[in-house]
Amino acid sequence: MSRRASPPSVLPLIPVPSPLPKESDYARRVRQLAELHDEIHVCEQCVAAGYLPQANTVGATRGRIGDAVMVVGQAPGHLSVERGIPFAGPGGVILDRWLQQAGFAPGALHREVYLSALTRCDPGKNPRGTGDRKPSPPELALCRQYLLRELELVRPQVILPVGGMAIAAFLGPQRLEDVIGEAFERNGALLLPLPHPSGVSRWLNDPAHQQLLARALGRLAVWRISGQSQASDGAVP
Ligand code: SF4
Repeated sequence: MSRRASPPSVLPLIPVPSPLPKESDYARRVRQLAELHDEIHVCEQCVAAGYLPQANTVGATRGRIGDAVMVVGQAPGHLSVERGIPFAGPGGVILDRWLQQAGFAPGALHREVYLSALTRCDPGKNPRGTGDRKPSPPELALCRQYLLRELELVRPQVILPVGGMAIAAFLGPQRLEDVIGEAFERNGALLLPLPHPSGVSRWLNDPAHQQLLARALGRLAVWRISGQSQASDGAVP
């Protein structure tokens, strides 16, 4: 595999475009999103650049135009790739349970939420074999365009970055305890950081951190019932 010049390791924050109603230019957005999904599915950029031995994106459609909520994770795991479904593993079960705590129906994660990620191929295990390898800065740089284009087409009202890497991509490096439970307004959209639902994360073992998660889900519940402005005004149960 030939290695190209490395992309920059420090990336600008992911910009959040303003939300759009489903009806706005719907046919064009649907067509372009389908084209984008096809493009992601056959992407081999990280293989060509020598960062991955093989490309293995999740084949399934990741969501629809009109999804008001977008989850942004780190990268798919091997179960998601095997099953062709984003968030197909235990983390997805937990995330769906968190959504239920915020008032969503069971199964809403895969039915009515757009599922995105910083990178789209399974990075494999970390060298210690204790969990998934984090995508490297060059992989993040190469894959970034897909998330930017999804955001531009889907225009969600709420973005849920899950885990430290996704949170940092939107907000810069942060301690989880400083941002979980907080709401950030960006161009009329609501950013609600969540911890990573993976069982590998020990952050939620601390009862105080569980309370921060409950606060974040409370904000999501407020948005769901009353609209974004109240959730970002601190009207939290
Ligand atoms: S991680 Fe992203 S940029 Fe890299 S090969 Fe997969 S889809 Fe392409």
